Amino acid sequence: MAELIDGKATSLRIQDEIAAEVEKIKSNGGKVPHLAAVLVGEDGASLTYVNAKVKACERIGYGSTLVHLPQDTSEETLLAKVEELNNDDDIDGFIVQVPLPPQIDEQKVVDAIMPEKDVDGFHPSNMGKMVLGLSGMVPATPKGILMLMEKNGIETEGKHCVVMGRSQTVGTPVSVLLSRKKTPGNCTVTQVHSRTKDIADYTRRADLLVVALGVPEFVTGDMVKKGAVVIDVGIHRVEAPERKSGFKLKGDVKFDEVEPIASRITPVPGGVGPMTIAALLHNTLEAARNK
Ligand code: NAP
Repeated sequence: MAELIDGKATSLRIQDEIAAEVEKIKSNGGKVPHLAAVLVGEDGASLTYVNAKVKACERIGYGSTLVHLPQDTSEETLLAKVEELNNDDDIDGFIVQVPLPPQIDEQKVVDAIMPEKDVDGFHPSNMGKMVLGLSGMVPATPKGILMLMEKNGIETEGKHCVVMGRSQTVGTPVSVLLSRKKTPGNCTVTQVHSRTKDIADYTRRADLLVVALGVPEFVTGDMVKKGAVVIDVGIHRVEAPERKSGFKLKGDVKFDEVEPIASRITPVPGGVGPMTIAALLHNTLEAARNK
């Protein structure tokens, strides 16, 4: 049986550390960090994520602002809101929750966010700095995954890490970060994607498997090496009529099959998800300090 890597507890521990920093800032008469979140439309999952972020801000003593715009918001209106937040001295960092409605070009919006306030770390300037190993905002989910590894004593040095997925938000930054000459890092990274032939041939050779595919329960027991550490980034709402909410959450990993084979594994929910929030709050603290 694998040991569970508890992302929820780790995230709360990090949040407590940040809350202590906020107390110090306050007692020195400083301004507490302020995070804003922009949400466009009524997507259920996005609403849940944004609310969790706002709640976490309240918990640790940050200022928080939720900007909720209607589904039919034009690109121009959203870009104007971004500009307003860029120029608002009280806001240290902000995120624009994705996905955005089809009338809005996501990349245009990301490009418009001031890199210093880009606490999601998606701006090309921050992505470039990450690749070059320069200080900047590291994308929140990949940063959260690294924090999870660090805080839970997961060794990365010299390990063969297979990253499943090559998105700009998860797979690619995780691959870059784990191959850095740093701790966590110093992995030998193999990145696989939808054009990889015989994907299981790679995953079976992974000491560390990071799964960010967006395909529910794609990774089965026969794809994992005995004793591997498995980080499941995927998150999906699947129908569960027996539940009051009508759904339950599943990852990209078939947990029941993989858990007996792995040495350590993240659950869904309670794994990577809460760590994304911890990383976002950490980035906001950095943004406030860098001002
Ligand atoms: P994405 O942009 O859809 O990227 C998915 C990647 O997986 C792509 O590179 C794709 O390959 C690859 N892929 C898809 N199907 C495949 C298959 N059958 N075989 C091999 N490769 C396949 O997704 P993402 O944004 O990286 O997110 C991945 C998952 O993580 C999603 O479930 C998302 O909801 C979740 N997520 C969770 C958090 C969190 O905080 N917990 C944060 C972000 C994302 P190609 O490039 O070839 O198309």
